[in-house]
Amino acid sequence: MGAIHLNGVSKVYEGGGDAAVDDVTLEVRDGEFMVLVGPSGCGKSTLLRMIAGLERVSGGQIVIGERDVTDVPPPDRDIAMVFQNYALYPHKTVRENLAFGLKQRKVDKAVIDARVADAARMLGLEEMLQRKPSQLSGGQRQRVAIGRAMVREPAAFLLDEPLSNLDAKLRTTMRGELARLHARLGITTVYVTHDQVEAMTLGTRVAVLRGGVVQQCAAPQELYRRP
Ligand code: ADP
Ligand code: ADP
Repeated sequence: MGAIHLNGVSKVYEGGGDAAVDDVTLEVRDGEFMVLVGPSGCGKSTLLRMIAGLERVSGGQIVIGERDVTDVPPPDRDIAMVFQNYALYPHKTVRENLAFGLKQRKVDKAVIDARVADAARMLGLEEMLQRKPSQLSGGQRQRVAIGRAMVREPAAFLLDEPLSNLDAKLRTTMRGELARLHARLGITTVYVTHDQVEAMTLGTRVAVLRGGVVQQCAAPQELYRRP
């Protein structure tokens, strides 16, 4: 249902020289938590942004579920993305931030209210719904960003270093919450990080990128096994 197939996907930026992503073929299975790791500049964000439709592919094909989405614009891809900087609307309340995407899609108000209430309960945001983002801690803002993705009930979640702006303690807490959320919702997830602990604890599989190609892709216990 929510599997993602990348078939020979490439990206060459205009005037960018070498391919940022070079002929990547990768299957993210339905319900899987796939972590993308690798050194800065290896193409992780570019790959994620192409799955999201925020960046056009230079070659290859992207299939989400049964559907070829290679030429489908982002809002119609049935995915939700969480960014490092949260990208919340500063002048809207938490409730409005959570509801915004659904409202734009003309989802029924009763459905919106129910999904927002569910997400707020799951993420511990019930007391925060009337606040503006500036009145929240970093961890709470990140929860709102995750909640906003959740309420869409997408086929897949794409997260680009969602915890890297948080302090170490909060990062540990949120890592646990993400793991629980995934265990509960089972949504196909692609997660970019350069934190090995996140890769090991969250990933069902980890894909290691280098120079735009997937060097290895394996379960974390295979990848990080000591010699
Ligand atoms: P990562 O997320 O692994 O750090 P990126 O996907 O951001 O890697 O970048 C991969 C390569 O593509 C890098 O060489 C980077 O400089 C280049 N790149 C990324 N975005 C652009 C862009 N908008 N224009 C030109 N080159 C880019
Ligand atoms: P953390 O240590 O988790 O980053 P903060 O020290 O930023 O948290 O905030 C601690 C508590 O104070 C949180 O519950 C947060 O909701 C609340 N808070 C932070 N900033 C504001 C604000 N401007 N107005 C109201 N409450 C706030």
